[in-house]
Amino acid sequence: MIDKNVKRKLAFLDEEIKTLKKEDRFIKPRVLHSAQKPVSIIDGKKVVNLTSNNYLAMADNPAVKKAAIDAINKYGVGSAAVRTIIGTMKIHKELEEKFARFKKTEDSILFQSGFTTNVAVCQSLMTSEEYLLISDELNHASIIDGARLAKSPRKIYKHKDMNNLREILESPESKKAKRKLIVTDGVFSMDGDITPLPEIVELANKYDAMVMVDDAHASGVIGKQGRGTVNHYGLDGKVEIQIGTLSKAFAAVGGYAATTKNMTAYLGSVARPFLFSSSQPPSVAATCIKILDILLKEPKYLKQLWDNTNFFKEELKKAGFDTGESVTPITPVMVGDSSKAIKFSNMLFDEGVFSLYIVYPTVPKGKERLRAIVTAGHTIKDLEFAVSKFIKVGRKLGIIN
Ligand SMILES: *Cc1c(COP(=O)(O)O)cnc(C)c1O
Repeated sequence: MIDKNVKRKLAFLDEEIKTLKKEDRFIKPRVLHSAQKPVSIIDGKKVVNLTSNNYLAMADNPAVKKAAIDAINKYGVGSAAVRTIIGTMKIHKELEEKFARFKKTEDSILFQSGFTTNVAVCQSLMTSEEYLLISDELNHASIIDGARLAKSPRKIYKHKDMNNLREILESPESKKAKRKLIVTDGVFSMDGDITPLPEIVELANKYDAMVMVDDAHASGVIGKQGRGTVNHYGLDGKVEIQIGTLSKAFAAVGGYAATTKNMTAYLGSVARPFLFSSSQPPSVAATCIKILDILLKEPKYLKQLWDNTNFFKEELKKAGFDTGESVTPITPVMVGDSSKAIKFSNMLFDEGVFSLYIVYPTVPKGKERLRAIVTAGHTIKDLEFAVSKFIKVGRKLGIIN
């Protein structure tokens, strides 16, 4: 029984929830009843799943699962300590070395999630009001929160607008800043477009700013063997910090910064999430080590991801859908209206396809959409089925003719 005083004091939440519902911002997630698979059981129904970030379909790969289980048998289920106390296991070090090699950097450092990695780096580097953090307007929420925790002021440049970035770098605030950090997503998570990194690096060198690229949606997806945005542009060794996540193509949970040895040494001594939140279960490290091995040895997964992506996008475009600016597996299907996008997603689900709606405030008003992400595990049959349902429901709702 909950005490009536507790109920009374929390009654304001009923009002908050009412407002959220009125504004289409109330979230009640669907529930996965199976592993994260190309065809999953969601809310008890078998559907083609186009909503995960399981790019390489590794979440239930038998060899990966075996590696995780072996690690549990060898190291147990958790470290029960933060990294700086006695939570650093040999397998964490091994993974950090592997990510460094994968990203062609000197070293890398693991964090508990991609979110905490961004927060950790921004907060640890931007420790003075005399510094300046410069961020693309469509960067991920975790970069925004990292910038909020930083002591430095921040400037936001228009999405991928290099003239605007140059203007900021030439501004008096930037000129007098003693340390500057330009932060950008590699692949933008809602639109699937890629940052113009060569131009950013050129400007950064000219104006003496560091560059940090968040490759959450790029690692395991673009670049040679899935090495990410920096490699995709042939800029290996030319970017100060590459952020990655273990939670998307790497199918587990966690994040890392691939960077120089002095940077990991510094972050490992001051980054608050590293110091005050426990390390990952060893099975997570084993999972990622195995997936890295697979990526390097078996190109078929990456090839399948891109074959599927190209097929799916082409078919949607042929049907008349607007799939935006995407050049990656993230495929927005533009709707332009909140309740219509929600309806589209729900009707598709009833037809056996799950593609989640994305509405304001995640995207601007008028840019409401569904977001579909194919994986290496989808078959052409799965994708043909999904496209046929997009067409059927899209016509019913007047999104296509
Ligand atoms: C998903 C995502 C993150 C957060 O990663 P997690 O490991 O899930 O915390 C950070 N940045 C970007 C661009 C993302 O898309």
